[in-house]
Amino acid sequence: MNLNIKGKKFLILGASSGFGRHVAQRVHDEGGLPVLVARSEDALKDFKEKNASSSVVCADLFSTEGLSKVLDVIEATDFYGVLINAGGPPAGSFPMDDMAQWDQGYDVVLRWKIELLRSLVPRLESSGSGRIVFIESVSVRQPIDGLILSNVFRMAVVGLMKSMVNEMDQKDVLMNILAPGYHRTNRLENLIAKQSEEQGRSETEIADNMAANTPLKKLGDPASFAELAVWLLSPQNQYVTGQIIPVDGGLAKGV
Ligand code: NAD
Repeated sequence: MNLNIKGKKFLILGASSGFGRHVAQRVHDEGGLPVLVARSEDALKDFKEKNASSSVVCADLFSTEGLSKVLDVIEATDFYGVLINAGGPPAGSFPMDDMAQWDQGYDVVLRWKIELLRSLVPRLESSGSGRIVFIESVSVRQPIDGLILSNVFRMAVVGLMKSMVNEMDQKDVLMNILAPGYHRTNRLENLIAKQSEEQGRSETEIADNMAANTPLKKLGDPASFAELAVWLLSPQNQYVTGQIIPVDGGLAKGV
């Protein structure tokens, strides 16, 4: 399928590994022009060397300085599509140690997205069209034990996205949330290693257990996830907006 993204610019956040990197690669391979944002300068340099028509911005989205660097890029560039993505919040259960951790959950999952969208959405509206995809988590469909900050604040991103879709004047600005289950990315490998240490079980055992809890009995492939993300970011998507789309092998059991 021709995605019709040749020559179009895409801002890909959290792009040095995992889902973000796969999305950036797919955009590049389809002839789009990805601008990658991440904290790791070396990984960004590596991508740029291998993919000549990409550009990179080294910035920490959770810091005032890093976010303002990205806002400057948004003000200076006509993007067609934007992938809103970064690392997740720390693990923990109610009530957490103190209120500072709740503040951190808000900062990491929600606050920077609001600030970024306040600049981005009016620009997309005035350009006449655009696509936004958020990467959140299956926790927006089914809370995950031990990840209360994700369970709470990602739901707020759902409220934000649904409200923006309803209130927007320009109707060719489409936005959707992808809700991944367990996929083999750096983040999952780190989580598996941590659980293996905590529980005294092998990493293979932990990974097998995650897969066994999923109806498809396997972990997801981030490259396949990226195929859907890039389709949603492309003009091929004409009529899918305001949706929360699980990509979880059937992990979320509700209807
Ligand atoms: P990853 O660790 O492989 O990649 C995350 C990317 O985001 C990296 O490029 C990292 O440099 C970048 N990043 C993180 N914090 C950043 C910051 N403050 N500023 C700029 N860049 C930053 O992880 P992933 O698995 O691709 O996860 C992406 C998102 O998907 C996370 O929110 C994660 O919680 C969520 N998620 C992942 C899974 C999974 O199974 N992998 C499941 C559910 C949700």
